[in-house]
Amino acid sequence: MKKVSIVVPVYNEEENLREFHKRITEVMSKESYDYSIVFVNDGSSDNSAVILNELANEDKHVEAYLLSRNYGHQMAITCGLDNAEGDAIVTMDGDLQHPPEIVPQLLRLWEEGNEIVITKRMATEDAGFFKNLTSSAYYKLINAMSKVEITPGGSDFRLMDRIAVDAFKQYRERARFIRGLVSTLGFKVAKVEFVAPPRFAGHSKFNLRKMLHFALDGITAFSNLPLRWAFYIGLFFGMVSLVLLGHVLYVRFFTPDAVPGWATTTASVLFLGAVQLVGIGILGEYIGRIFEEIKHRPLYLVSRHIKK
Ligand code: UDP
Ligand code: MG
Repeated sequence: MKKVSIVVPVYNEEENLREFHKRITEVMSKESYDYSIVFVNDGSSDNSAVILNELANEDKHVEAYLLSRNYGHQMAITCGLDNAEGDAIVTMDGDLQHPPEIVPQLLRLWEEGNEIVITKRMATEDAGFFKNLTSSAYYKLINAMSKVEITPGGSDFRLMDRIAVDAFKQYRERARFIRGLVSTLGFKVAKVEFVAPPRFAGHSKFNLRKMLHFALDGITAFSNLPLRWAFYIGLFFGMVSLVLLGHVLYVRFFTPDAVPGWATTTASVLFLGAVQLVGIGILGEYIGRIFEEIKHRPLYLVSRHIKK
């Protein structure tokens, strides 16, 4: 019998775990697959680890990896993909915003021979206007800037066949934007659309700072365009300053009123200073990332594997 693993990153989801377990079990017990539910506890500070231990005691389908600290959503998913054994792996959030009832649709498309089944969030019922707007603007930007195509409203709710999981496992970069990586893999891809309901309980673990960092990871991982912008901006202002130089020389040598044009000077110095800072900032962003990658540190550390 084929086996399906459900990988679930968990960060302070104590109020959601039992409900999630109940609903995914209802779905999977109707399927003709062996299955496992692989929770990855991403250093939760609430009771999540205790509840996962209980669930693993009660249900032989449940296992849990406890990470040594909080590594972030993308690393928790990576740990699950690295360790889960299924012939197919479904990754989904533990807060029920990825409805377990959609999983059968993913499985049917897998059976039809698709090696990756991605999902597209049509709307998030409780997402504010701001999140929806920034999200759609972001996907437009990243698609314009890089060669990989990333579905707007993409989420980390997807199914991957073993062949795609093994391919994915070869990508060991630290700054990971899994949706982008998966779309560079190739393979036969199908798409399912869904509406994300509000969280069952608790609140989102992503604040503006985490969101921004994640967004930047996505862009720098798939595009060198910002580096080129810095170059073009520099080039443009270099030419502007040449014209300015011509003007200054003309005033100096061919007109009697060679008033020291300090306004022009100050303005251009400030302007060029700002442009240089932008360039250095962009450079720094990439160099910082090179430094992070080159250290080759482990992506995450597991402190315990619970399986009965
Ligand atoms: N999560 C995680 N580590 C983190 C933040 C979040 O494992 O540092 C998990 C979280 O428990 C949830 C999923 O990632 O299962 C998505 O997080 P969240 O619901 O907070 O994000 P949102 O749906 O608001 O984008
Ligand atoms: Mg959520």
